[in-house]
Amino acid sequence: MPNEREIEAKLPRGSRSEKDRPNLKGLLLPELERLVTDLGEPKFRAGQLASWMFGKAVTSFDEMTDLSKGFRTALQQKTAITGASLIRESRSHYSPTTKYLLGLEDGQPVEIVLIGGRERNTLCISSQVGCAIGCRFCASGLAGLSRNMTAAEIVDQVIQVRRLAPNRAITNVVIMGMGEPLANYNNVLRAVRILNAPWGLGIGARKITLSTSGIAPKIHQLAREDFQFELSVSLHAADDRTRSAIVPINRRYPLDVLMEACRAYIAATHRIITFEYVLLKGVNDRFEDANRLVTLLRPLKGKVNLIPYNPVEGLPYETPDEGRQAAFLQILHSGGITTTVRRERGRDIDAACGQLRLKEKSR
Ligand code: SAH
Ligand code: SF4
Repeated sequence: MPNEREIEAKLPRGSRSEKDRPNLKGLLLPELERLVTDLGEPKFRAGQLASWMFGKAVTSFDEMTDLSKGFRTALQQKTAITGASLIRESRSHYSPTTKYLLGLEDGQPVEIVLIGGRERNTLCISSQVGCAIGCRFCASGLAGLSRNMTAAEIVDQVIQVRRLAPNRAITNVVIMGMGEPLANYNNVLRAVRILNAPWGLGIGARKITLSTSGIAPKIHQLAREDFQFELSVSLHAADDRTRSAIVPINRRYPLDVLMEACRAYIAATHRIITFEYVLLKGVNDRFEDANRLVTLLRPLKGKVNLIPYNPVEGLPYETPDEGRQAAFLQILHSGGITTTVRRERGRDIDAACGQLRLKEKSR
């Protein structure tokens, strides 16, 4: 199993367009300002550019009608605002959930899911093409990692959905699609800053959630960042034996190391961490598993999000029946752990981690 530095170093960082010309969707405002002044334009043009890209989600420089023709030509020659293209859209029949399969510029597919709720629309985006962590129950990791996504590509997922579903305002973003975001740390952090910025996508920091399988040193690093979003840690087991069997990164960063990182994060940020727990029948759904989870999380005042396993073709796991799920939940509640159960939305369109891409590939 590669460590996180190997995961980051192994693959090309940029999409093709970014290597040749910087993709403006991945630049922070001061960088955009430097770029426009280098092209001989006043600094405020950077704000205009940002508003076209992020606010109005335009796809070409030609649409930026308040910029001079000469400036647009210069931008066209030296930079890019290209993005992903839509391959397929699937709508759930039972819930306001839509899944988009997008093609990145080099042809790699990524999936994103827009989940509608009563008062919010949550967009689940990806951070890598594939995943190197290889959790046993997850479709995203089955074929390993293809490459990291660039910051521009990560941000572009939100821009694309703004275009594709203009009537559904995106209120929340969760980085829970394909990939391990902390294995692509710099690009993800840059993207999150752009998603959050008032000149960018303007999504509140408290409405952006990053989910990690538990790369402990990167959680320490997150604790030192100057702004915080919501952090979820995919725990899935409260003892090392079970966790190592289903989340291989646990062999590198076992529970005591991971919990120490979580404690440091909480101490530095005064934030609550949500721990995700995919319930797998006969693997981690026993009463002793629930009791251990209570013991592990009570000192951290951690919240739990229980996720009934979403079956992946070809994998040997099963979803526990509802009685078992309820009993597990009851133990956590009695133990004083705030727990939510992720409602199933869009199972008919396989709206879980990585599954759409898998089907596309095997077709
Ligand atoms: N790599 C990150 C974020 C992406 S996965 C992480 O692991 O946290 C987002 C969440 O979906 C994780 O909690 C993951 O364990 C869960 N997940 C993966 N496959 C699943 C499946 N088949 N059914 C239910 N949840 C799954
Ligand atoms: Fe990667 Fe997350 Fe899937 Fe594990 S659960 S293989 S870390 S995407």
